[in-house]
Amino acid sequence: MQEQLSYVHGAHDVPLIGETIGPFLAGVARRFADNDALVVPHQDVRWTYAELNARVTRLAAGLLALGLRPGDRVGIWSQNCAEWVLVQFATARAGLVMVNINPAYRRSELEYVLNKVQCSALVMAPAFKSSDYIAIIEDVVPEVRGSVPGKLQSSGLPHLRHVIRLGTEKTPGMLNFDDLLAAPTTVQLAQLADIEAALQFDEPVNIQFTSGTTGSPKGATLTHHNILNNGFFVGEAMKLGPADRLCIPVPLYHCFGMVLGNLACVTHGATMVFPGESFEPKAVLATVEAERCTGLHGVPTMFITLLDHPDFANYDLSTLRTGIMAGAPCPAQVMSRVIEKMHLAEITIAYGMTETSPVSFQSSVDDPVHLRVSTIGRIHPHLEVKIVDAAGRIVARGVKGELLTRGYSVMLGYWGDEEKSREAIDAAGWMHTGDLAVIDAQGFAAIVGRAKDMVIRGGENIYPREIEEFLYRHPKVLDVQCVGVPDKKYGEELCACVVLRPGTQATEDEIRAFCSGQIAHYKIPRYVRFVEGFPMTVTGKIQKYLLRELVTTELGLAG
Ligand code: AMP
Repeated sequence: MQEQLSYVHGAHDVPLIGETIGPFLAGVARRFADNDALVVPHQDVRWTYAELNARVTRLAAGLLALGLRPGDRVGIWSQNCAEWVLVQFATARAGLVMVNINPAYRRSELEYVLNKVQCSALVMAPAFKSSDYIAIIEDVVPEVRGSVPGKLQSSGLPHLRHVIRLGTEKTPGMLNFDDLLAAPTTVQLAQLADIEAALQFDEPVNIQFTSGTTGSPKGATLTHHNILNNGFFVGEAMKLGPADRLCIPVPLYHCFGMVLGNLACVTHGATMVFPGESFEPKAVLATVEAERCTGLHGVPTMFITLLDHPDFANYDLSTLRTGIMAGAPCPAQVMSRVIEKMHLAEITIAYGMTETSPVSFQSSVDDPVHLRVSTIGRIHPHLEVKIVDAAGRIVARGVKGELLTRGYSVMLGYWGDEEKSREAIDAAGWMHTGDLAVIDAQGFAAIVGRAKDMVIRGGENIYPREIEEFLYRHPKVLDVQCVGVPDKKYGEELCACVVLRPGTQATEDEIRAFCSGQIAHYKIPRYVRFVEGFPMTVTGKIQKYLLRELVTTELGLAG
């Protein structure tokens, strides 16, 4: 009877890795010492595994020399770069917890996350695109300018001691990243060895912020065991090996970059290739050709942009074999074009969420194409998934319900938020994803909708509640509801429906300008509609789906 229920278990004969990330990297560096580990053409970086490992040790010792101790949180606020990788592995080696900060975050988000997890140190880029990070941090922590590096005392962020900037220019009160890369002393090496020996794989190594239905971002806290194993099995599904060179244009601050990209490579002795600081289609095409990449990751929007690029045909992409498309529903037609036109015959689809490290379903390179384009594949090794109805009972195969995940990949919880953690992970250890899915008789799953109120714009998640709470601060806004509306390029765009206070008037631009510089650009509503009220149920509950239908039609986006 049981096989007819929507419960699947990834029974597998390859065991889980029972190590922390530091010693694991050292082992890889011994086995694949001379293999390219990291290539970042725009920074002129080309490090072998032996070189990467040595730099990681230097940085780990440098961080400890600042007085940081195992368990302390270290924020990283930067676009993709080689230093990001060093911070990822050095914090792991030193028992520190790396906190990923979205490069698109602005003042209010930055202040919130640094405070929430009490970061002791922040590694940051000086600037990125339109954002002057130094100006933002000096605004959030005005004390930094007059402080001695390493002795910061800030009233707003009392835990923050060190601000470490990338690049060679000096900024008052800040350390330079390269200052932390001095050759370690024997005493420091012994201290590192002691830390590595004591560290357990179930300890936290990384906090990633995801937003939630309640407004503020929540810090999903992941362990060595969580992400090292997920990276390993993601690489297994792509059949990665030491000869592979994976082009990683997806952001490192998200699991897609640092787990599906970096850790999948490191666990297989493969090469990480960063085509740029952020996604830039021409640079991706040029890097795949120049570096003879065998793999390429991306959210569906990125693949669409590459395929439609006017210079697409001028690049030789024939070395490509595999990669992952994930993060949002992957249209079958895009998958087919990617297989046909980009030589990605072995591309796989993955599904997951930050809270589960992230991947729980992935198609394998040899699944039939029709299943690779229409499903998210089968359950990942060692994990369990069940699909349940509103009462929490497992539904029959083929019946829609909420997808729940259990196993080694489930996060410890949300940092400093027990209540939210308990809502997300139930007493039996199941993570409630809020995604609606069906599983067929063979175990292939398809995501068919979302029970949670979330918009995915080009792979970036937006929680309407967070934007609504921000817009409530506007003096003219009486009430506001945000919904996702269809968009050809990004999949979805955000629309804010605003009820103005009586007697006031406002323009769309005025509302958007209020957000600018305060919240990340991708969260700023693309559309603003001024309305009299919202469709309600008899019990006074706002009917978001009706509102979504209404504005979709009004904006002429239906169909
Ligand atoms: P994140 O925590 O940023 O990784 O976002 C996780 C959410 O992205 C999931 O809960 C899904 O709603 C969505 N998602 C991720 N991968 C897929 C996929 N392959 N198909 C459909 N939705 C996806």
